[in-house]
Amino acid sequence: MKAGGTAALTEAERRADEARYQEVVCRTALNRVQVMPFEWALNPYRGCTHGCHYCFARRYHVQFEMNSDDEFASMILVKRNFVEVLRRELDRPGWTRGHVALGTATDPYQPIEGHYRLTRGSIEALAAGRTPIGLVTKGPMVVRDRDVLKALSDAAGCTVYMSVPTVDEDAWRILEPGTAHPLQRLRAVRELVDAGVNAGVLMAPIVPGFSSSRTKVERTIKAIADHGARFVGCNVMYLQDGTRTHFMKFIEREFPAMRSRFERLYTRKYPPDTYRKEIKAMVRVLQDRYGLSRREDAKGAEDAEAQSAEAGRATTIDPEQVGFAW
Ligand code: SF4
Repeated sequence: MKAGGTAALTEAERRADEARYQEVVCRTALNRVQVMPFEWALNPYRGCTHGCHYCFARRYHVQFEMNSDDEFASMILVKRNFVEVLRRELDRPGWTRGHVALGTATDPYQPIEGHYRLTRGSIEALAAGRTPIGLVTKGPMVVRDRDVLKALSDAAGCTVYMSVPTVDEDAWRILEPGTAHPLQRLRAVRELVDAGVNAGVLMAPIVPGFSSSRTKVERTIKAIADHGARFVGCNVMYLQDGTRTHFMKFIEREFPAMRSRFERLYTRKYPPDTYRKEIKAMVRVLQDRYGLSRREDAKGAEDAEAQSAEAGRATTIDPEQVGFAW
């Protein structure tokens, strides 16, 4: 359904949240990725009603001739045959049970999952196919599926990465307008851990000027520790293509006084190394203080992607979530 953008989505259904949902048929479910610490990506939906202004996946919505602004958060593609296709792929004799990342281009537990249950069906299929996964989300609905996540943990391995960039309420309201309260997300982490699922938190992304102060970072890390997370990782916001365009328009509109600072900090996709190192060093000190283990593999993921992009090498990375630690 690439041609025509939203105008071509004549059957899209408008639901109570004011977003429009278009059912589409997919030919494949598992997407091969390269240069990443996982081999396959799974995304049952495209677009995300959580609508985070920094979302790296905004830039991919243009693949469907939709914009990276409002349409990313209000026109959601639902791959209605997703679970059926995935089951077929997992049943192939040549399937090697490589590591699968769920939710690399959209949130698998955005509200519409309550209706379609494509994420739950995928986890059931992966458990039956004894295939290990990492799943990233901001949706407390993940707790609904703790039974199948535990079954998959026992069968092959499963890690849930709850994204909680900050517990600061102002930053949350401003930057992540469609998401659940950060403490609700942390309570979900506790429930998953109590159910025997390996679950932790990604402070991803930390957004300069909004959630990067030491006070805010410390409050966040303390809250993460208080909720029994098994680990924490972090990353600083990066801006590229449509994501950059959207974020800078948002800053210009809502916080014009911050514009020049962002322009100076983001002359490239990432802020300067010195800035990122300072943030990461601060997080490391606080992680140790509050007894939280680290996700060191975050660095590998992020560096691999950055190096690849800078070298101008073509990769087959499908809409990925390189800002997250795996
Ligand atoms: S960052 Fe995650 S939760 Fe937020 S809009 Fe993007 S995919 Fe959705």
